[in-house]
Amino acid sequence: MRLGTIAERLGRNQYELDANSHISLDQAAAKAAGVGRLLESICPAGVYSVGEDGVIGVLWAACLECGACLALAPSGVLTWHYPSGGAGVVYRQG
Ligand code: SF4
Repeated sequence: MRLGTIAERLGRNQYELDANSHISLDQAAAKAAGVGRLLESICPAGVYSVGEDGVIGVLWAACLECGACLALAPSGVLTWHYPSGGAGVVYRQG
């Protein structure tokens, strides 16, 4: 059985979208800490992207709720909580 590329596998995920973002990023704190590229590289879902102007985009709807960004970001950069009841990624077996 071919599992596919990571992008293909991520593309099979299903989400119950929350009306509001569960991730808030302080642009000034992130810039001061220089963590834009770190966030961009550690997120398995590609939630973070650093624009040419240095502003960090947050595509929160794609979040897998793994917690890696919250574990690695310096204090004050991120405010993160789970999506509200029942929303977010829908995990499946296999
Ligand atoms: S919790 Fe995981 S998937 Fe979600 S934004 Fe952070 S690193 Fe990405």
